[in-house]
Amino acid sequence: MSAGRYAPSPSGDLHLGNLRTALLSWLFAASTGRPLLLRFEDLDAGRTIPGSAERQFKDLRAIGITFSGEPLWQSQRQHHYEAAVAQLREAGLVYECFCTRREIQDAPRAPHAPPGAYPGTCRDLGDAERRQRRQQRPPALRLKAEAGEYRVADLLLGEVTGLVDDLVLVRNDGTAAYNLAVVVDDHLTGVDQVVRGDDLASSTPRQVYLRGLLYGQQTAESVQYAHVPLVLNRQGQRLAKRDGAVTLGQLSELGQSPEQVRDELLASLGLPRGPLEQSVETFDPSRLPKQPWVFSPASQKRGPSESI
Ligand code: GLU
Repeated sequence: MSAGRYAPSPSGDLHLGNLRTALLSWLFAASTGRPLLLRFEDLDAGRTIPGSAERQFKDLRAIGITFSGEPLWQSQRQHHYEAAVAQLREAGLVYECFCTRREIQDAPRAPHAPPGAYPGTCRDLGDAERRQRRQQRPPALRLKAEAGEYRVADLLLGEVTGLVDDLVLVRNDGTAAYNLAVVVDDHLTGVDQVVRGDDLASSTPRQVYLRGLLYGQQTAESVQYAHVPLVLNRQGQRLAKRDGAVTLGQLSELGQSPEQVRDELLASLGLPRGPLEQSVETFDPSRLPKQPWVFSPASQKRGPSESI
């Protein structure tokens, strides 16, 4: 099995940065003969906005992005995450963690501990102490990782070296954590090509390490990664809703058709305007821009009736 995927969080409408990444996922998959799967990462109930997955799907289709099969919803896949945790637990690789964010921040660290790493506070708690801590706070579950650092190859960034600490597998409200859900879903759906924004590059070493523990190192290391440059606003920050007309719906109110938006995204990638299919043959990842695309929302730069 071999597949690519696009995995948005349904926390609002997709903006141009999201759409541009989706378009690249489609091109990477199509140009390598892979089906492209759609997975909604809707585990975080606090961030999920009802109806937004459906709108995201519609917008993706409107700019020509098609998917294989039905979309997957992480909220319906709890049993798969539980099975993975059980497998790790059996291997002695899971422990309960009672730390609050604050406690982690304030914990004493070894002099050469990598910044941001979990300091291991709860790793060796005794049974009695664990029982007592459970009365005060439900535990999160962490992975007992032995890697420190891990290196992975990326089609666009070259080599990505990053921290692998005792990452959270299950949050203390019982929800599977992002890294666990991604690894389990990608593996079980045959995903061996991951295209996403380069703000997620630093999670990749953790995910490859965890996928190796669960499903074998060879499988984990055969996954292709491409972390694509983000779209930024004129202040150099990641594009966001507050930057004006940045979603397909908002742009359509300014008179811009989905095809015009698609063409502007393609042009920003140095690709020919027009239906995506016509870029498949000549798509060459090594010629993609390495720098973020700085976008000035149409409302700030042009009148409503002009094309973007
Ligand atoms: N859900 C994440 C996002 O919308 C993407 C996660 C991934 O591609 O691994 O940014």
